[in-house]
Amino acid sequence: MTQTVDDILTRVSIHAQAFVDGEYVDALSGETFDCVSPGTGTVIAQVASCDADDVDRAVAGARGAFESGTWSRMAPKKRKRTLKRFAELIDENRDELALLETLDMGKPISDSRKVDVPAAVETIAYYGEAIDKVYDEIAPTHPSSVVMLVREPLGVVAAVVPWNFPLLMASWKLGPALATGNSVVLKPAEQSPLTALRLGELASEAGIPDGVLQIVPGLGERAGQALGRHMDVDMVAFTGSTEVGKFFLRYSGESNMKRLALECGGKSPHVIFPDCGDLDAAAQAAAWGVFYNQGEVCNAGSRLLVHADIKDEFLERIARVAEGIQPGDPLDPETKMGAIVDETQLDRVLGYIEAGKEEGADLRLGGERTRAETGGYFVEPTIFDAVSNDMRIAREEIFGPVLSAITFTEEAEAIRIANDTVYGLAAAVWTDDVNRAHRTARAIRAGVVWVNTFDAGDITSPFGGFKQSGFGRDKSIHALDKFTDLKSIWIQLR
Ligand code: NAP
Ligand code: MG
Repeated sequence: MTQTVDDILTRVSIHAQAFVDGEYVDALSGETFDCVSPGTGTVIAQVASCDADDVDRAVAGARGAFESGTWSRMAPKKRKRTLKRFAELIDENRDELALLETLDMGKPISDSRKVDVPAAVETIAYYGEAIDKVYDEIAPTHPSSVVMLVREPLGVVAAVVPWNFPLLMASWKLGPALATGNSVVLKPAEQSPLTALRLGELASEAGIPDGVLQIVPGLGERAGQALGRHMDVDMVAFTGSTEVGKFFLRYSGESNMKRLALECGGKSPHVIFPDCGDLDAAAQAAAWGVFYNQGEVCNAGSRLLVHADIKDEFLERIARVAEGIQPGDPLDPETKMGAIVDETQLDRVLGYIEAGKEEGADLRLGGERTRAETGGYFVEPTIFDAVSNDMRIAREEIFGPVLSAITFTEEAEAIRIANDTVYGLAAAVWTDDVNRAHRTARAIRAGVVWVNTFDAGDITSPFGGFKQSGFGRDKSIHALDKFTDLKSIWIQLR
């Protein structure tokens, strides 16, 4: 049964204050901002709007906790137990967290339940499990010395995350940053702070010491920038747009040269060769690859590169799949596509659809706002045919349910178009020729290349970009590296 927003608000505990030194507190200025539910356009909370003063307070507490050693010098085995307990508590509260996520950012409740919350649980548990199984090294020097290469936590890590997978993106940063002994100051996106804020009390309950996880909701230009420019923040782990990723490079250069890991935007090519043996599977993947999560996915396969010989038939297949993915009430368990996160993003997506028409692309499906009577922000699954790779809808990240289909005739041409982008986050190729699969997977410059699948993932497999999709990898054991510095301790023997 579908629950209404009002029903839910009586049952979930919404924390709208910042979480600092183990307590929920107002912003020092007392200011708040509206938290809007995208399915209905209603205000569901007034959230503390943190600025530079709040960031100073949170960073000071995080530094104090780090220096005290209660977490940073705890035996890894104990950090493991605490993080596993943290993961269990997220799991025990999965229904509430899923409701909060859907209320706050508009994704279908079935996705919040089946994807976002379980993946967050798995991520935190994975890094807890990992941390007492990684060893440091001894360098192969002359036997007259012992040179130990030890990894040390950086200190205070700021995690600045986007609104499309609020809980999951936070957990991709928190898992490895906390496991390696850092203190973390988390800034959720202004559109979707609620699940992050709930994590504060769950972390406390799990036994993470006060100050080790601080949460400062607020606007990007204020709270985000204050973290980026802070002289006592050692690293920013960021996920978001390429534009804001570049701001963080500047903030770092103009302040303390803090380390950065940037997971930024994408315009991923989804390439269908004519020797693909299962066009139905490819069409399912191509449709879900761009319509999943309302298209608000950094690695969305938003550029479909399809061979001219199969283009018409293939677009018909995708359109048939898309008809089954129409937007609905995010709280209805049957809904497969929810609401766009806010009105600004709705206007942006509709603006790109207009740009596509103006530039001469052929609108094959959708293209309209829908369900406007609900007050929510919904867009139909949209497919453009006859797109050329120099149009804006092929070059710029739309972050909405809009597919741009481009045709090619030769493999080399497909690779050239696939790589003709500033981004390099992900790509997919569909072919039954094993030689072509290897050749093209190597030739495409992207952090992940899928062959005969799309958006497959596992916590053991790294995720992140080439080119202007950023640098640094989330997920997998490799993610631990970026939250530590390598120290050589040279011991001369007598
Ligand atoms: P965004 O606008 O870049 O925001 C990301 C974060 O940065 C938010 O917390 C935001 O705060 C903050 N921010 C915004 N302006 C800032 C500024 N001037 N200084 C400091 N911080 C600032 O991205 P978004 O719209 O939330 O998310 C969509 C983007 O994320 C897309 O480009 C998508 O590709 C990317 N993304 C990438 C990955 C990946 O792993 N590569 C995964 C998911 C999403 P406010 O929201 O409060 O302003
Ligand atoms: Mg919201």
